[in-house]
Amino acid sequence: MDLDDISNIAIPYGPNASTCGYCSPPGQRSKIATNYHTASLEAIKLSCEVYQGMIDRGWRRSGSYCYKPDLKLSCCPQYTIRLDATEFKPSRSQRQLLNRWNRFVLFEDSYVGEGANQDTRNGSTSNSKPSKKPPKLAPFTSLTKTIHESEVNFQTSSKPRNKFEVILEPASYTPEKFALYQRYQADIHSDVKNSPNGFKRFLVNSPLQPHPIPYTSPPPDHLPLNYGSYHQLYKLNGQLIGMGVLDILPKCVSSVYFMYDKAMERFSLGKLSALREISLAQEIREAGASEMEYLYMGFYIYSCQKMRYKGDYSPSYLADPETYEWFPLASCIPILQKHRYACFSEASHSVIDKVAKNDTNGNGNDVEATGSDSSDAVDVEMEDQECEQESLDHAWDEGECEQEEDEGFLPSPSESETMPDELDDIKILARSETGNIFAMPIKETGYLRFKQVRVELGACLEGLGEQLVKEISFSL
Ligand SMILES: [Zn+2]
Repeated sequence: MDLDDISNIAIPYGPNASTCGYCSPPGQRSKIATNYHTASLEAIKLSCEVYQGMIDRGWRRSGSYCYKPDLKLSCCPQYTIRLDATEFKPSRSQRQLLNRWNRFVLFEDSYVGEGANQDTRNGSTSNSKPSKKPPKLAPFTSLTKTIHESEVNFQTSSKPRNKFEVILEPASYTPEKFALYQRYQADIHSDVKNSPNGFKRFLVNSPLQPHPIPYTSPPPDHLPLNYGSYHQLYKLNGQLIGMGVLDILPKCVSSVYFMYDKAMERFSLGKLSALREISLAQEIREAGASEMEYLYMGFYIYSCQKMRYKGDYSPSYLADPETYEWFPLASCIPILQKHRYACFSEASHSVIDKVAKNDTNGNGNDVEATGSDSSDAVDVEMEDQECEQESLDHAWDEGECEQEEDEGFLPSPSESETMPDELDDIKILARSETGNIFAMPIKETGYLRFKQVRVELGACLEGLGEQLVKEISFSL
């Protein structure tokens, strides 16, 4: 057996903590670590089925780093939110947003891109005051139809003023994508310290292994053939104006990140992209992949006002932090209003206090978990990434430290330490005398003598659950 025959491989990390970007003023982070992860791992490869199982238990990925927030300890608990795409009906304001964009692409002049209207660029004002009303858009009949109405590959009507293309392709690096990312970070987040490698690490790299989507008949050309990690490119007159990072999984389209060109800010491309991703899930389902039902928009953070926009897409559900059952968002709100930590399945488990104790530093400092007042909904994805980046660095730092600490070599677990039986069955990668890599139960090795190994694998066992943890072979 070699590595190609093993579907899921990960390097386990233990629990960790990082500073929080949600409850501090814009551009700042909490002074001490108040954002906790119960478990984390560096995924070398993951099947889309296993990753689907992970996000259903509250995990997310940043590049190939996967982590599970600790909602009970963190100042700004992160609840997994999902929208039922099969039941989604756009609200009036969402339909207006779509119409505004379609009207712009089809009938108005743009300053963006090579195909932009020449008259306007040459300074002519002949088009600035249209003498007659622009032609009307088609009446709203379905989200999918309206989503594609202004796209060049779907047009049946007369020549549009602008050429709008949407391209879904496997995640990959190009200088054009990095340039958009760099502009987005600088213009929207005043962050000018970005490198191609950082961009690759967070938004290009993915552990997900492509796997054919079981369509019942050949799907339309614009739909993906495989589950996996994708970039969805928004091009206006040939120029990249937006990009979504998406995971397409058996049960859902999972939105990882969205970036856009500031010149397009007035069109709320972040909100439009969510509508397009809902339509994508609907279309994949309609083409025969009947398991496809949801759009996962990442984490819903009630304590952070600007993250609440994710609840604007209905019907949405939050995962219970203890049982992972799904509860309608509307029924969760009253519990979230009263508690920092809200448990929907068992009300008595909720915690009211507004502070998180920093146990790792041992200084006991309390931190107010207050929300930010910014209402710029589209900016929030950056906050996601800031937290993720911070935790990734933190995890790596910890990893390095742990190698040097001597706590690891203990003769056997101490009397007071209880070891779950399931730890024994966790598979780890080993190398045979002939050099072949294979997976074997950890109990057949001496690794459980090491406290660090027990802590890291114990955290992964708890975070992944008994079933998922069996699917993964760990590299120690
Ligand atoms: Zn916070």
